[in-house]
Amino acid sequence: MNQHQQEATDNPYLLLTPGPLSTSRSVREAMMRDWCTWDRDYNELVQSVRQKLVKLATDQTEDYTTVLMQGSGTFCVEAVISSVIPADGKLLVLTNGAYGDRIVKMAQVHQIATAVVDYGEVSQTSVEPLIRILEEDTAITHVAVVHSETTTGMLNPIRGIGEIAKKYGKVYIVDAMSSFGGIELDVAELSIDYLISSANKCIQGVPGFGFVIARTAALTGCKGIARTLSLDLYDQWNTMEEENGKWRYTSPTHVVRAFDQALTELLAEGGVVKRYERYARNQEILSDGMERLGIRTLLPKEFQSPFITSFYYPESDAFSFQELYDRLKQAGFVIYPGKISQADTFRIGNIGEVYAEDMERLLVAIEENRFW
Ligand SMILES: *Cc1c(COP(=O)(O)O)cnc(C)c1O
Repeated sequence: MNQHQQEATDNPYLLLTPGPLSTSRSVREAMMRDWCTWDRDYNELVQSVRQKLVKLATDQTEDYTTVLMQGSGTFCVEAVISSVIPADGKLLVLTNGAYGDRIVKMAQVHQIATAVVDYGEVSQTSVEPLIRILEEDTAITHVAVVHSETTTGMLNPIRGIGEIAKKYGKVYIVDAMSSFGGIELDVAELSIDYLISSANKCIQGVPGFGFVIARTAALTGCKGIARTLSLDLYDQWNTMEEENGKWRYTSPTHVVRAFDQALTELLAEGGVVKRYERYARNQEILSDGMERLGIRTLLPKEFQSPFITSFYYPESDAFSFQELYDRLKQAGFVIYPGKISQADTFRIGNIGEVYAEDMERLLVAIEENRFW
């Protein structure tokens, strides 16, 4: 059996979704042993994963640290939002999609003072009104933005926003859930204080935990701020530091082991640069091929991330997303519904164990199953 046949036997379809995504067989196999949570073997694995993540995030490793947190990515975002903004602080959220809106909702649940700039769904979060708002509303202490807004596939300009946040002395929070590991960035260079991502996106692990790359000097000042017990970012970090890789509560041991394997495979692929190239190529093949089939992308090329693409429904009364979904699933591909309110769209992800050949096969399947 070749690798492709083996994968097909393991999995009846390829996930072309924003994550969880298709993982390698070796990542899944890493979960085939049990680990004790307080044993040295496991704690050393946790510490090594934390160190690898900091290295992946910056060259200035001495200024940054990592906190791993149980749950899906949202739990990690909420851990940051509810643990780093003091009672008298105020959060400015720049949003252009559901994940930015979710940050606003979290702040409201925790009764954190919030200001919001909503750019709609198809414009980038721009630097323009940011300066004015920070000049006018001096109560703002923290600025949050989503890097790759998975709602549409939009890539936001986190560098420019970071420059202004830093100039005005604000703490800068970036939800890089669906981009970290898939595009080169350096948190120190981008003035990011907290970057959030999770196991099951561009690093290509399985779901079960997320992580926060934090500027150590910022995080050490957050003791006692948390509004929840289990999502207390400072306490989670402090326990991991003090007790050498111990999680406060039951940790997703198998998932961590799989994640470590996924990190090894990221390096083996040639690191983030090579992974980015593969993803960008996948995305290019996909959008060019769809255009040939008369299916247009929602976003212009200059806003488009290399991770997930939104497509308009074809202009035909015969088209039904459910029908396309069912047919493609039958053919071995799972695609994703749209998430925006302004237009009928669907999404196709191209991250995970997904290669140029898979994109070509998908395009053939779409052409063969064209019913509209
Ligand atoms: C996936 C994702 C999240 C987290 O979603 P979960 O379903 O909780 O894993 C947050 N932000 C963005 C931009 C995402 O793509």
